[in-house]
Amino acid sequence: MMGYTHSLSAAAVWLALVHHGVVPISDRPTILVTTLACAGAGMLPDIDHKNGTIAHSIPPISRWTCAVIQRISGGHRQGTHSLIGVGIFWALALSSPHYLWWGVPWVSIILVAYAGGLALRTFGAPGGWIGAVAVASFAYYSSQPIEFFPLVIGVGSSVHILGDALTRRGVNLLWPLTVKAPISSIFWKKSGNMALPILGVSGSRREQFLAVALMFYVVWALISLTGFIKF
Ligand SMILES: [Zn+2]
Repeated sequence: MMGYTHSLSAAAVWLALVHHGVVPISDRPTILVTTLACAGAGMLPDIDHKNGTIAHSIPPISRWTCAVIQRISGGHRQGTHSLIGVGIFWALALSSPHYLWWGVPWVSIILVAYAGGLALRTFGAPGGWIGAVAVASFAYYSSQPIEFFPLVIGVGSSVHILGDALTRRGVNLLWPLTVKAPISSIFWKKSGNMALPILGVSGSRREQFLAVALMFYVVWALISLTGFIKF
């Protein structure tokens, strides 16, 4: 799945959760910041790709980080795209607000800001750094984004894995185990990857159609939830 579809699907699921009251956020800035951060978090499992968007985000550090994680996690769409991978993303997100320095949860603030900047970069928006600084400032002065941060990362990374599972290549959910299919099929392959490939290959017309539909939903939900236009 392409980066923009990952980000749009993560943002769409986040807004749906806010819309249905599962995530109780009502003020406009927090809705905007958490949606942006979740869109960025929707890219995080691709930290296992040394030539992906994340690798090019803060070179050379991001490239080195991605190369190391790619090696540790067994390659692209392995460890970071598994149930264990999602668990690690959740654990990191849940523990990050507890790392305080002078009483400020800097780790969470930096991660939220990075995710926000990453989302802007994914959509080719100018000012990724400016956006990241703006998100960091808001997170610093308002505790709300940090309060919802674990959920933002958890939702974003989980939606990413579901998205890749809808493409033909699939994901190895059971990593580090490789449970080979007795009979290879599009749903379960000899490589151990599992898929429900309704979108075909990454970047297919079906995926592009889905991305457009998601974009309409995200725009509508943002307008509706932030109350700029009443329906
Ligand atoms: Zn992926």
